Amino acid sequence: PAEKSADAASLLSRRDAVFADVQEHYFADPPVFVRGWREHLVDADGRVYLDTLNNVTSVGHAHPRLVAAVARQWSLLNTNSRFHYPAVVEFSERLAALLPESLDTVFLVNSGSEAVDLALRLAQAWTGRPDLLAVQEAYHGWTYLSDAVSTSVADNPAALETRPPFIHTVPAPNPFRGAHRGNKARRYADEAVAEVHRLAEEGTPVAGFIAEALFGNGGGIALPDGYLAAVYDAVRAYGGLAIADEVQVGYGRLGEWFWGFEQQGVVPDVVTVAKSMGSGHPLGAVVTTRAVAERYRTGGYFFSSAGGSPVSSVVGTTVLDILRDEDLQGNARDTGAYLKMRLQELAERHPLIGAVHGFGLYLGPEFVRDRETWEPATAETAAICDRLRDLGVVAQPTGDHQNILKIKPPMCFSRDSADALVAALDRVLTTGW
Ligand code: PMP
Repeated sequence: PAEKSADAASLLSRRDAVFADVQEHYFADPPVFVRGWREHLVDADGRVYLDTLNNVTSVGHAHPRLVAAVARQWSLLNTNSRFHYPAVVEFSERLAALLPESLDTVFLVNSGSEAVDLALRLAQAWTGRPDLLAVQEAYHGWTYLSDAVSTSVADNPAALETRPPFIHTVPAPNPFRGAHRGNKARRYADEAVAEVHRLAEEGTPVAGFIAEALFGNGGGIALPDGYLAAVYDAVRAYGGLAIADEVQVGYGRLGEWFWGFEQQGVVPDVVTVAKSMGSGHPLGAVVTTRAVAERYRTGGYFFSSAGGSPVSSVVGTTVLDILRDEDLQGNARDTGAYLKMRLQELAERHPLIGAVHGFGLYLGPEFVRDRETWEPATAETAAICDRLRDLGVVAQPTGDHQNILKIKPPMCFSRDSADALVAALDRVLTTGW
């Protein structure tokens, strides 16, 4: 049974009084969630919602095995990560083993933003240069450097104009909109490579290039084939590092691939991980080569009091055990393929759905007013999300035009839940929003 119904309005005004405006929350009139179970959330009135959004909670809400492991470790030991204890070594070995052999050195932190910040600083230390290259419309975090490479105007309308001078960007390699659509999309790579050369010729060769390996913030859009290979080669030609931000798309969610960079057929020099690896617990990591990690000694300092603490490390190991034992990557592949197929069927009947992006349980139905001009249906998407919430489905938009649903649920998402989501969306698109 749910807890006694809270006064949702008064809780919201208390939140507003104690938080700043920039600390946003989902929905103008959000449900008050008091518990979760698998891919479901329960509000204070006992109403159950389908959670299509929570990529953080990778193994599902309130997983009993994770709950038990955390409780046990807390009761034994949790401490500053400078001490020597088994859990951190065991987890770091397990994490490194998931990556290509060259990526064998692990830094544990507490969030994706920290991981990205450290990754960029590793590149700066590696090259002794400040300049960094990122793709537009990306989100990589809120710390100084991770924010500097984030130019999603959905988060900050002035993003592009307010970059520090050492940050450079290339257009979002989106094959559906922008300068190079459809079979011209490979030109995005040519342009990015040309920019890398131009910056080097101007005396500011980039220390590193960062991109999500699949454009998660952009709506789960696969990068054009060969994009990362081409840009990585160009950046490495000047001694820079290739950084794959796997915070959102990595860790098995794509189904077919554990890491997004596998989909592009490349091996990065630095990988950032967070979200799924802690299933909601603050845990992030940077994995890189021994040589890159060693060079950092001359370029900066690293220590994180709670990064890789005994409890965090046990969380990391237990999440990996659950992913393996419940074959959640396999479920992401199979249930994700089924859900994508059903969403594509829906697109045949509802012209508002212009395309269904993504793989596995990282999907992005994109709403457009016109399939020729690809005019984004931004207001419609917001209204659809509100109606879905009324029908018991938690869904939210992403992308610079806020017209793509970010479907990235707990990886235990069932076929029944996929059917429920499609039925709710079909109803909203049929009866109006
Ligand atoms: N990189 C990507 C691709 C992200 O999506 C996010 C968070 N949305 C981050 C980094 C930052 O992670 P965190 O919120 O854990 O700091």
